[in-house]
Amino acid sequence: MIWTDEKKSELTELWAAGYSVTYCGEHFGVTRNTIAGAIHRMRLSAPEEKKPAPRSKAHSHQRSSKFSKAAPVPIIPFIAPLSVEFLDLAAGQCRWPHGDSPPFLFCGNPASDGLPYCPQHCRIAYVAAKHRSPRDYDGIAA
Ligand SMILES: [Zn+2]
Repeated sequence: MIWTDEKKSELTELWAAGYSVTYCGEHFGVTRNTIAGAIHRMRLSAPEEKKPAPRSKAHSHQRSSKFSKAAPVPIIPFIAPLSVEFLDLAAGQCRWPHGDSPPFLFCGNPASDGLPYCPQHCRIAYVAAKHRSPRDYDGIAA
């Protein structure tokens, strides 16, 4: 593939927008290695390596006030597991296993509505999703 100025600027735009090497390869109909080589020769830096613009004092103040307005994380008191065997678990009881040797026991405390675990174990089992960029999906077929 011959990299014309038009194709170079198109690749630069795609790369700056955060598209993956795989995506750019599919876009131009070439391999990932071809795209990676072109990016290297064109000395394009990875979007996440770009240095952030210096912040004014007013901007940093806005950010800190934003965090101070965040809702506090609720404190859930520790509740000791009831140590229920699997066959004794009833509907609405927490299914969080504890212990790593027989007899295998489960938490057994009241589960949160519609969930298999009590609030204490939901905090361990469920983690908030982070923001993802197109680059995170590199290598995953569309
Ligand atoms: Zn539990």
